[in-house]
Amino acid sequence: MSGAAVARCEGCGREVAGGSSGCRAEFDALCARDYSGAVPYPLHRLMVDAYCLQHPAEFCASGKSYAAHLVGLLVAQEFDGDAGAQRALRAWLDGDRRLPRPVEPVARGERTIADVIATETGEARECALRAWAAEVWRAYTAQHETARAWLAEARGAR
Ligand SMILES: [Zn+2]
Repeated sequence: MSGAAVARCEGCGREVAGGSSGCRAEFDALCARDYSGAVPYPLHRLMVDAYCLQHPAEFCASGKSYAAHLVGLLVAQEFDGDAGAQRALRAWLDGDRRLPRPVEPVARGERTIADVIATETGEARECALRAWAAEVWRAYTAQHETARAWLAEARGAR
């Protein structure tokens, strides 16, 4: 997005060249880097869930996509990314499941993907990513109970 005017991203609120589409382009670039390199899947998943919850209009348009990212972040934050819980979530969301879509919080955290982009790879990146994701999770405090109830349902459905 070089040359694009700096504007506010409507999702995460940061000022970035190209605004919302510039923010998305940087996210896509980070995803591509994750796929091509040595980033463990749980960390990639954490990045995607945090980003999507900060950009809910785009990535959490349905109740189902909202649940996927909200419960994904719950599993990362409260269950150490437990693989069994992630599998149960995926299986539960598979197919034609309709869920009520909660209303997202207006404030979704001060940290953004820019804090992750600004770091080198490895430990520094993981640290920045975890701090960002934890802040997004806190921003969704009003929906923690909903997320836990969804996860319990997913686990019961197995
Ligand atoms: Zn953004």
